[in-house]
Amino acid sequence: MVAWNRPRTTLLTVGILFHLFYLWSIFDIYFVSPLVHGMSLYRSTETPPAKRLFLIVGDGLRADTTFDNITHPVSHESGYLAPFIRSIVREKGTYGVSHTRMPTESRPGHVAMIAGFYEDVSAVTKGWKENPVDFDSFFNQSTHTYSFGSPDILPMFKEGATDPEKVDAWMYGHEYEDFTQSSIELDAYVFRHLYQLFDNSTKDTELDFQIRQDGNVFFLHLLGCDTAGHSYRPYSAEYYDNVKYIDEQVEILVDKVAKFFGDDDTAFIFTADHGMSAFGSHGDGHPNNTRTPLVAWGAGVNKPVKNSKPVADNYTESWNLADIQRNDVKQADITSLMSYLIGTNYPANSVGELPLAYINTNDGEKFQALYNNARSILEQYLVKEQEVIESQFVYKEYFKFEERSHESYLNEIHAMIDKIAKGDTSLEPQVLKLTEELMTVTLEGLQYLTTYNWRLIRTIVTFGFIGWIIYSFTIFLKVFILAKEDKNNKPSLLNVSVFGSIGLVLNYVLYYQRSPFNFYMYLLFPLFMWSQIFTDKDAFIQGIKSFFKSISVAERIFIGICIVAIYESIVYGFFHRWIFTFIFIILSFYPLICGNKSVLSNAAWIITSCYISTFTLYDAVKIESLTKINVGGIFIILGSLHSIGRIVKGKLVSYYSLSLLITQVVLVILILLTTNKSVESLQNRTGLPRDAQIAGWSLMVLSLFIVPFLHYLKPSNHYKVRLLIIFLTFAPTFIILTISFESIFYFLFTGYVVQWIEIETQIKKSKSKEQENYAQLIRISLIGFFLLQIAFFGTGNVASISSFSLDSVYRLLPIFDPFPMGALLMLKLIIPYIILSTGLGVLNLKLSIKDYTISTLIISTSDILSLNFFYLLRTEGSWLDIGVTISNYCLAILSSLFMLTIEMVGHILLKNVIVEQEVDQEKKKQ
Ligand SMILES: [Zn+2]
Repeated sequence: MVAWNRPRTTLLTVGILFHLFYLWSIFDIYFVSPLVHGMSLYRSTETPPAKRLFLIVGDGLRADTTFDNITHPVSHESGYLAPFIRSIVREKGTYGVSHTRMPTESRPGHVAMIAGFYEDVSAVTKGWKENPVDFDSFFNQSTHTYSFGSPDILPMFKEGATDPEKVDAWMYGHEYEDFTQSSIELDAYVFRHLYQLFDNSTKDTELDFQIRQDGNVFFLHLLGCDTAGHSYRPYSAEYYDNVKYIDEQVEILVDKVAKFFGDDDTAFIFTADHGMSAFGSHGDGHPNNTRTPLVAWGAGVNKPVKNSKPVADNYTESWNLADIQRNDVKQADITSLMSYLIGTNYPANSVGELPLAYINTNDGEKFQALYNNARSILEQYLVKEQEVIESQFVYKEYFKFEERSHESYLNEIHAMIDKIAKGDTSLEPQVLKLTEELMTVTLEGLQYLTTYNWRLIRTIVTFGFIGWIIYSFTIFLKVFILAKEDKNNKPSLLNVSVFGSIGLVLNYVLYYQRSPFNFYMYLLFPLFMWSQIFTDKDAFIQGIKSFFKSISVAERIFIGICIVAIYESIVYGFFHRWIFTFIFIILSFYPLICGNKSVLSNAAWIITSCYISTFTLYDAVKIESLTKINVGGIFIILGSLHSIGRIVKGKLVSYYSLSLLITQVVLVILILLTTNKSVESLQNRTGLPRDAQIAGWSLMVLSLFIVPFLHYLKPSNHYKVRLLIIFLTFAPTFIILTISFESIFYFLFTGYVVQWIEIETQIKKSKSKEQENYAQLIRISLIGFFLLQIAFFGTGNVASISSFSLDSVYRLLPIFDPFPMGALLMLKLIIPYIILSTGLGVLNLKLSIKDYTISTLIISTSDILSLNFFYLLRTEGSWLDIGVTISNYCLAILSSLFMLTIEMVGHILLKNVIVEQEVDQEKKKQ
């Protein structure tokens, strides 16, 4: 075995750190926090139309479900789920779709509604609970806020308030959020505690006074839909019943509120923080996740406006609301609307724009409120601009403000509002246009300021990627082609001084620009790698020469075309999954082209290729299917028994190892039974049986740790035995985490890798020694790189965060907890990579190629993909497109990262493995 020589250890360490930092870089570059501090506040209006406001948020409630005519999956009755809300849309209020942004998660959604700004993507990682927040919110500006709901949401607005006494919160405990129980309970809690509060106030004069003050907010956070959607998906009876429940309760609420306060001065906002995808998840920019309902009514809100002609599109056709004007808003606009209705200051960080269509007041008032809104946003621009001026060598103002200063805008608008107030109504369209223009320019300006440093940092990242590709390829050439393992050149004096000074200058620039810590790291990698590249340039040139030494020119051209074609196909495969199928079909004939004579293995290969090629085409919306789980399980059991039989026949295994192998098969059978029990119980909505949960965990621990450890004590070293052990080690975990066809894929994928090993061995045997060249190495690396992508997509994952259904993890964790659940999903994701990595390791051994040659070659070239996706990243356009580009970039980097980490695991897994030395005995000695 090749020892852990220095260049390789450095390569792995640098590689892992590099990928981790560069994975994060897009969030630092593209999704920077928009927050600034130290702004003056602007009050929305001096004459608020409402005395108090009710904000009712159906967590995870989709716009279409709220308004659509729906057929109930159990009772098969058709009808509207929210007749009361619809009656308001028709008769009393104003409605529209509130468009949320990525990430469509609860926290950023609530922040957008209540604080008026869009959190950057990294907010998702910033804790869900007691995270102290440093932004201003609408609740903070209210007289007093009473909030009811989930402990995941309420605390951040309470703790973030200038005076935490200002916000009261009634929250259930986390154990309440058991995903397998009825979700309606969560919403019932909210209404119960609100009425309890009303009741208490009749006995408590101080409380009564407090509740009846002007400017109060009542926030009802209804988690039910989100919970039902996660557990049973948004087309389930549970989700629908929850929407119905909310509608009934809101009707009761409106009545009770009117009676309790004895007036008509209450404003109501009914909306949602985000929607829900068909998979029962959210997070990305799919329209199902970004479209939420907004219905406002009560004091200060406009009555419905009839359309002169019916207006509907494909999406809204079945709502039967084409005759009513629909007024869509961006989610943050809700903050401005609420601030106006009860006359608070616009929250300091809010970028929401007051949706005038919702407001029922005279025009002078309206324009004054909008004008104040514009000034509040402009204030943020000015503060931010000052920050940028102080941290830049050269500052260039945003060009639109260069053309026309903000003072000039403000003066003109102010003058016009004065005239309108004196009765000159002809100016109305003009003032509206100008104020909206000022807001748009200001928001663009803010974006301009936030991305002021892009060019520099993007250049650094590009140099980083290209640097990594060349640097790691040089190491590959040094270690595996030139076999100069231990010669680690020292950089020359010139090299050190050149890169040293570049480093000093750039670091100073970063320092002057008050860059965050990560930016220094992004810079460090290219500096280090390019310095190394120049130090080793001779090795690079020599290596290239000897790498292509025995390959003819025609072959070189052919190989070149193949490499480009495969990489580009894979890039497009990320967008169009059928391309993967196409590649599989081509691959199925490659042994014939390479001259493999064994008819049996060629035929088997073609069959497996065709079968496995269908997996990337399956609908990613996986419906839990016990039948498919069982079929996969039985495949695994029968396949293992067959392999055990052959191993025993070949006398490759000791009695000790054999009994452990059989134990492993028994573990697979047991976990299959456990999974059946859990799934049935969960599908019958009877919760997760305690014994099934305990059994699931115990079987996982046994199969992942205990049995492998026993194997380790007295190992059987034949590679076939080892492959089977590894396959069986992860099989139980994979089965319990399977939703539908994934374990069939696991079985086939392993079979495919094993067949591939045999075929490459046969091809190698059939070639004479003179023909021996690096063409095989390149071919294996290309196929390996392709399989690296299949390891991810084959289990039916879509390139998106929200496509991971939680169905499977409920069998182990019935209560929602994002981090352990995420860890389990991650484990499931990694398992196919482990199989691939082990397979590549065995190939190295069997073909007598030095260890890790193939994986190192894959690792060094795979970032061509990441670089591709880095430039395909989009920050504008629909949030769906943006989301897809982000996930693609993350996936490309993650697969490199998995490869790197798992290589080390593979090293341990394949310790002391023996292969038959059927291939050219001589070479091992070289
Ligand atoms: Zn939510």
